[in-house]
Amino acid sequence: MGNYQICDFCGNLSEKTSKKMCKSCEDAYLKIRSIVEVYPDTMVIDISKQTGISASKILAFARNGFFVLKEGTIE
Ligand SMILES: [Zn+2]
Repeated sequence: MGNYQICDFCGNLSEKTSKKMCKSCEDAYLKIRSIVEVYPDTMVIDISKQTGISASKILAFARNGFFVLKEGTIE
């Protein structure tokens, strides 16, 4: 399975990318990132409501170093 990888975030098998996530998780990440850049003080729970992405997935991105978690918000 040389050109495939298991996504760290959803467990789906996907084509290998430079990041350790599949395309749909990358889209989710970019969606979160775009909100965080404009509204850096948005609570994780509100980002979750706005994007439809589960809070646990947002926190998983933070745990893996894609965001810095602080007092309920991420940056
Ligand atoms: Zn994924």
